[in-house]
Amino acid sequence: MALEEAIARLHRWLGPKVSQNRYDVETHGHCESYPESKPPLAVVFAECEEDVRSVLQWAGEYRIGVIPFGAGTSLEGQLLPQGPAVSLDLSRMNRLLHVRLEDFLAVAEAGLTQVRLNHLVRNHGLFFPIDPGAEATLGGMAATNASGTMTVRYGGMRQNVLALRVVLANGQVLEVGRPVRKSSSGYDLKDLFIGSEGTLGVIIRLTLRLQPLPAHVYTFRVFFPDLVATVRAATVVMASGLPVARLELVDELGMRAVNRYLGRSYPEAPVLFVEFHASTSAGANAEMEEALVLFHDEGAIRTDVARTEQERATQWEARHKLYWALTSHFAGHQFMITDVAVPLSSLPEIVAQAQHLLGEMSLEGSIVGHVGDGNFHTLVAVPPGEYSRAERFAEQVVEIALNLGGTASAEHGVGLRKKRFLPLEHGPAVEWMRQLKALFDPAGVLNPGKVV
Ligand SMILES: Cc1cc2nc3c(=O)[nH]c(=O)nc-3n(C[C@H](O)[C@H](O)[C@H](O)COP(=O)(O)OP(=O)(O)OC[C@H]3O[C@@H](n4cnc5c(N)ncnc54)[C@H](O)[C@@H]3O)c2cc1C
Repeated sequence: MALEEAIARLHRWLGPKVSQNRYDVETHGHCESYPESKPPLAVVFAECEEDVRSVLQWAGEYRIGVIPFGAGTSLEGQLLPQGPAVSLDLSRMNRLLHVRLEDFLAVAEAGLTQVRLNHLVRNHGLFFPIDPGAEATLGGMAATNASGTMTVRYGGMRQNVLALRVVLANGQVLEVGRPVRKSSSGYDLKDLFIGSEGTLGVIIRLTLRLQPLPAHVYTFRVFFPDLVATVRAATVVMASGLPVARLELVDELGMRAVNRYLGRSYPEAPVLFVEFHASTSAGANAEMEEALVLFHDEGAIRTDVARTEQERATQWEARHKLYWALTSHFAGHQFMITDVAVPLSSLPEIVAQAQHLLGEMSLEGSIVGHVGDGNFHTLVAVPPGEYSRAERFAEQVVEIALNLGGTASAEHGVGLRKKRFLPLEHGPAVEWMRQLKALFDPAGVLNPGKVV
């Protein structure tokens, strides 16, 4: 009864911005690749700061959870209610507020997608370099500390978000961070909200660092006879200090899935997708040539250089559609995606162990990743009912990563799925994380049950 009364009040306050339409609630209680879904009580489509404050005030009064929602592309169960909760959809707050060309800055609302932002700033000769393989919102990307194929060169969200405007659980609005390239002024609350997965506050505005579009881009693919040799080659190129802009791994199974999904005929062998960005053609060419020598010394069997813009786009299309190619290849299966990162020098060792473990556990899975960052994913596909086998695999990969000094999640976040790994990685520091959560959200209304 109290719940019905609470929702009726929300309708009265926010009118048509509140939806209990079946499609809306179902699409907001679902995470890509997470085996369960659960609809929230309602979806609120916020259109301004006041809407966000109203929802948080209402939630505090009725002790109902609020799950911030960007584009819904997260992978770890972050959006699934763990009790009575509404989804707070920020996608209508999607304006680019201004671009400061001379400062290489943009200020945007949280619901703007990075794809749209790039479309809008491109004519100024600028770009925002973080490209998770999905059309995510900037707010969701900050909330998960997302990264992408160019993070090896330009950094992830923490390095490229300078300031945030955040609404706290008590409705207070905070500005954290400054539009400057560096600051030593006080505790860094901006970086605390980045990666907090909607559990500490609702991000409504971001000040972002932009990059000049590179004048010269060199893109190529290098194939190797086996997976570990491919990864070793990636670490050799990184150790050489060459300023790689992208360095991505796809295994043999991944290439087979891409061929089927996109109707291509690429060699079905482990491959590195590589790119260099430079201000002069001679510079980019020299870097590419040097990398090619290193790759050949490491046993490369074939190189395909993208000569035109179209060829470049086709190359990256294969990488960006890889996840969909694999889920289509394993249609009807459930997926567990590991997301560990280790120090670069340990990458060949852990990839070899993950590959061995897949065989030993008779699991089907593809190993792909942002290897220039020491980060790889194993996408394990299991028939329904066998999910615990995939979980056992993931647990072992995380243990190996932690023993090598790595992390359980490099970019996808914790959500529900990776919560159990937190104590393994952080030990007693998890208790301090819990205390921070209690400090910012004493009533526990912000994305309850996630992260800690
Ligand atoms: C095919 C595919 C490929 C992917 N590749 C990558 C990759 O390469 N790198 C990578 O980092 N990720 C990747 N992802 C994961 C995903 O795209 C990222 O986690 C993304 O950052 C989520 O953004 P979103 O807008 O979809 O957020 P959502 O999924 O809507 O939300 C994600 C989390 O952030 C919170 N949140 C959302 N908006 C806000 C806000 N305004 N304020 C506070 N909290 C908020 C939510 O409550 C939730 O906890 C991939 C996903 C897919 C489907």
